Amino acid sequence: MSAAFLAALRAALPELRLITDPAETERYRHDMTEYAHPGSPLGVAFARSTDDVATIVRLAAAHRVPLVPRGAGSGVSGGALAVDGALTLSLEEMTEILEIDVANLVVRCRPGIINAELGRRVAEHGLFYPPDPASYEYCSIGGNLAENSGGLRCVKYGVTRDYVLGLEVVLADGSVIRTGGKTVKDVMGYDLTGLFVGSEGTLGVITEATLRLIPAPQPKLTLIAFFPSVRAAGAAVAAIFRAGIIPCTLELMDRETNRAVEAAIGVGLDLDAAAMLMVESDAGGAGAVRELDAAEAACTEAGASSVLRSADAKEADWLREARRKAHWALEQGGVARMEDVGVPRSRVPDLLEALEEVAASHGIRIGVFGHAGDGNLHPCFVMERDDPHAEERVERARADLFRHVLRLGGTISGEHGTGTVKKGYLEAQRGPDAIRTMRALKAALDPLGILNPGKLLP
Ligand SMILES: Cc1cc2nc3c(=O)[nH]c(=O)nc-3n(C[C@H](O)[C@H](O)[C@H](O)COP(=O)(O)OP(=O)(O)OC[C@H]3O[C@@H](n4cnc5c(N)ncnc54)[C@H](O)[C@@H]3O)c2cc1C
Repeated sequence: MSAAFLAALRAALPELRLITDPAETERYRHDMTEYAHPGSPLGVAFARSTDDVATIVRLAAAHRVPLVPRGAGSGVSGGALAVDGALTLSLEEMTEILEIDVANLVVRCRPGIINAELGRRVAEHGLFYPPDPASYEYCSIGGNLAENSGGLRCVKYGVTRDYVLGLEVVLADGSVIRTGGKTVKDVMGYDLTGLFVGSEGTLGVITEATLRLIPAPQPKLTLIAFFPSVRAAGAAVAAIFRAGIIPCTLELMDRETNRAVEAAIGVGLDLDAAAMLMVESDAGGAGAVRELDAAEAACTEAGASSVLRSADAKEADWLREARRKAHWALEQGGVARMEDVGVPRSRVPDLLEALEEVAASHGIRIGVFGHAGDGNLHPCFVMERDDPHAEERVERARADLFRHVLRLGGTISGEHGTGTVKKGYLEAQRGPDAIRTMRALKAALDPLGILNPGKLLP
């Protein structure tokens, strides 16, 4: 069946780049999920057009060969991991920007374009695409759409879903649909755009997106505040919102993370502080100064030991870079398994305390950083590289963490997705009836189960 499928593919698409040699496909087996156990793919096909994707999917359905859609492979929930005997369908060569429509504040693009590149291209027209995962220099828009990714600016601007006006999607039988267009308002029929965003390649393959843009904001002003306890930092987050401001960035790094960042790139962070908040305003001029004044007052009221402001845009970029390097810096000290949990903003202090308890009771180093303004943190379990029991210990600690998160009314994944690493917890969070509904959707859209099998659903 597999050989017949590959032969049919080569006959139908003679120009298609298709690799099957395990030495070549190796780098497409993984994404950035630690402890992942990927399968061995049948091969990797690099689609160049919607027609390529439609033909590949149609032939895969005819031959009952599963497909794993893949963007840039930066996922951390195992969504793009290779599956035994499946064809990995890479979208990385579909990178065109089809149109930048300045009048309608819209960009139409293919899924393979890298997030930062899209940002640079629309900036040439004075426009701005806000969703910016910390991986923005190497993650693709297709992956962002399939994961409904967030990032550092979500606190003010929202997540990927909030910028999607329409999609072109290849369905599991190879047919092609469009779910929306350039209209800002469009409520005809079911919200299929919303259904495909966040569906992790299990319901269809996204081949084009129509994305909403906004005018470019003002340059940012940045403030960092250090706190003697994580609870005080959590209290400052709540106080900032109470003060009536919505900063464009409100990020947290704990002591463990600050130490790792300092050791790796030496930014000059206060290593005695239990936690640090980074607050940014892009309100511009006096507005930005007013926002940061209010944030500073809120931090001081919550017990900040010191508050500093960046002298200029260069220093602000440098501080932001320290935050973006957090995961990488923690990885320099061992295997850093990044989690992605969310709680209502007011419960951030409780989550931070729960994390201290999990670290102490399991004897595990946890570096915490993330989007405190969204209540979305990335605790990183840092393990010795040669610890043979690391995986078991981390599994026990994360199960404990997830129990705390659900107790606090939170979510087991805020932005990284369910993939393979969290599907076992889906029922605990959503309940059996929601799982039944999800299965019904999957069966309706992918009756043969060929799209990204074994991902998302338990
Ligand atoms: C250091 C680091 C920092 C990160 N920071 C953030 C962050 O701040 N916020 C955040 O949300 N995420 C973050 N991530 C996670 C990751 O970068 C995002 O999930 C990103 O959107 C994945 O994009 P990708 O192109 O790499 O997708 P991949 O990893 O290739 O794929 C991800 C999923 O999307 C599916 N998929 C990809 N393309 C398509 C398509 N065209 N059609 C259908 N399905 C498709 C795949 O099947 C898979 O299920 C971070 C990751 C790392 C390593």
